[in-house]
Amino acid sequence: MKNNRLLFCPDCGARMIEDAWDIITEMPNGDLVQDIVYPAWVCSDFCGYYEEIKLQGEEQHDSLF
Ligand SMILES: [Zn+2]
Repeated sequence: MKNNRLLFCPDCGARMIEDAWDIITEMPNGDLVQDIVYPAWVCSDFCGYYEEIKLQGEEQHDSLF
């Protein structure tokens, strides 16, 4: 497995940490379901810099926003 993650944020120099975020999907009946968790490599200072961690070498580029 390739590991080319950054140790420090290129924007602010803070340590990078592994994190994940989930997608909350609202069901038709109003229930909120925790759908998918995307692993990500994020700035520990939360300046906004992050890298998506690719799984299984997939090169899909889903837009989250
Ligand atoms: Zn940063």
